Amino acid sequence: MRIANLDQRAVLVVDAAGADAAVDLATASDGRFGPDLPGVYRDWAHVQAWWTGLDPAAVATGAVPIDRARLGAPSPAPAQVFAIGLNYGTHAAESGFEAPTRLPPVFTKYVSSFTGPDTDVALPPGGNVDWEVELVAVIGAEASRVDEAAAWSYVAGLTAGQDISERVSQLAGPAPQFGLGKSFPGFSPQGPYLVTPDELADPDDLELGCAIDGEDVQKGRTSDLIYSVPKLVAALSAIVTLHPGDVIFTGTPAGVGLGRKPPRYLQDGERLDSWIEGIGELHQRFTTTTRAE
Ligand code: ZN
Repeated sequence: MRIANLDQRAVLVVDAAGADAAVDLATASDGRFGPDLPGVYRDWAHVQAWWTGLDPAAVATGAVPIDRARLGAPSPAPAQVFAIGLNYGTHAAESGFEAPTRLPPVFTKYVSSFTGPDTDVALPPGGNVDWEVELVAVIGAEASRVDEAAAWSYVAGLTAGQDISERVSQLAGPAPQFGLGKSFPGFSPQGPYLVTPDELADPDDLELGCAIDGEDVQKGRTSDLIYSVPKLVAALSAIVTLHPGDVIFTGTPAGVGLGRKPPRYLQDGERLDSWIEGIGELHQRFTTTTRAE
């Protein structure tokens, strides 16, 4: 099952003659589920059971083309957002750190920075804005002290994310400001869809990457995560209770601008394209000027 946030309504993403198309979930379920996304995650087990009993061809009747500009983050109002640092050994090395031997650093990205997959992003004045493509997991059931072996069953699905990061404010000190430096407006694009793990050949091994104006800058595989999605769900839920709709940015592979010699940061007019195998793409355009209303 693929779910998207179209104009703040939950839609099912279906294949219509080879193209992705949207079916309004509230309409398709006769009002049982949706239209709001948070309610869909709170009722996730029932949504999944309902979907499993459906004929996809029948659901696709009445599907409408998807205007990507109208897509929002698949989980737009999570109770909690977790972001994981140094979760790929190659990225830890380029950042000048040892690879973590216990839980990697955990911080947050504030929800006000969430957007859909295709956006313009304003570069903060005086900032050094960097890219971090990341697999994002959305929780589908309350989770407390979950075993790693059972952890995938607490995950509603996966989406693509960019943990866009402004390094001057992040590293200004006296201690790092991860949450603020990564939460300027538009710094958490996600999408295009939430994809359930069963849709993926191996949800623990997905290629992910990003390119600036067509030049590849990051490419990795989620099988190289030091803490995989199930390990993260187990480790986080050992401490906090995870709630349906909660979002976990799982960390970025090597190739960020801060790790280059000399460092490289996003410039006015540059385009950042990000992708995750089996999930889809994000497209960001960076600008120094705020768009006119
Ligand atoms: Zn990150």
